[in-house]
Amino acid sequence: MHFKDIFGHKSVKQHLISSVKNNRVSHAQLFLGPEGSGSLALAIAYAQYINCHNKLVDDSCGECNSCRKYDKLIHPDLHFSYPFYAKSKDETAKDYIGEWRSALLKNPYLGLSYWRDQLDAGNKQANINIAEAHDIIKKLSLKSFEAEYKVLIMWLPEYLDTQGNALLKLIEEPPAKTLFLLVAENQDKIINTIISRTQLVKINKLKHQEMCDYLVKDKGIEANKANEISFIADGNIQEALNLINEHSENETFSLLVQWLRLIVTDNGSELIKLSEDKLSKLGRENQKSFLLYAINMMRQIILMQQGLRNLIFLQKEKLSFIEKFSELFQFEQLEEAISVIEKTHYGVERNGNPKILFLDLSLQLVLLFKYQTFPKGTQYI
Ligand SMILES: [Zn+2]
Repeated sequence: MHFKDIFGHKSVKQHLISSVKNNRVSHAQLFLGPEGSGSLALAIAYAQYINCHNKLVDDSCGECNSCRKYDKLIHPDLHFSYPFYAKSKDETAKDYIGEWRSALLKNPYLGLSYWRDQLDAGNKQANINIAEAHDIIKKLSLKSFEAEYKVLIMWLPEYLDTQGNALLKLIEEPPAKTLFLLVAENQDKIINTIISRTQLVKINKLKHQEMCDYLVKDKGIEANKANEISFIADGNIQEALNLINEHSENETFSLLVQWLRLIVTDNGSELIKLSEDKLSKLGRENQKSFLLYAINMMRQIILMQQGLRNLIFLQKEKLSFIEKFSELFQFEQLEEAISVIEKTHYGVERNGNPKILFLDLSLQLVLLFKYQTFPKGTQYI
């Protein structure tokens, strides 16, 4: 992974590169950034740069022995740890390294649901288990094979739970020339004792223009469409990829309109049918994507209500949809709607039962949007 291949984050890259040049590489760092922001890619590019034998001014060389192995994620002194869905208590992340490498090489902006979909996860919970914590201690106590620095990149330490305590001593006093790079999305869910032992590298979500550039240059998406997708994906590349690949954006839009129409007209039986037959069967990644899409649409509606029309990039039928919706409901209702949809999104991510989650969400929204008196003859959306 090279810095030049990662879109945006200019100042973070400069900060990381200068820490190497000034010989101020801290041995335990927490890369904190929202899903799809590129924080994992940045951590890998940083580790590759540190170990490159022939560093360029602002990137690793891509040609030395170390870079060649890093490019394929097979360097013997580069270790990964990540949540996985253990089939038995003895399994460690190493048992899924093949799937991990191929998922990461295909999509360095990956989110947990995407990772989950690469594995035969069933209904298991994602976890970094105690066997994995012990395996990390064992791996890092060995001398490095060939690199100057042994690196452990742990993705989503939020899933460590109390097992993390087994690693505290190692993080605090690591063996010489050992780096811990933790890549997290949610600071509140990491045990405090780990946070206090790491140096924070804060990564912001991608800016609108950076995301557009990525979609146009890397994915060959036409400029207008890239603009629209970037707006909805709101800095999350994983979400933008979902919108391009798995469930086309227009389909997501029509499903959202269909769903909201049933909600605001309080059509109980059809709503139950849609929740059970369609939404709960979308697959976890598409469900998450659908919910994020709904949240972002609600945000556009709020912008419209506040008279911030110039911040909205949507066009044609999407624009007229949010115009209508913004006239029908109050700001407080929309804000509350966003909050309940966010809770469902969290539930889906945490492997909740989709049938119950979507039915519950639909009914909550019916109640929420019910308290509104419409003038006679109002055309619903
Ligand atoms: Zn190199």
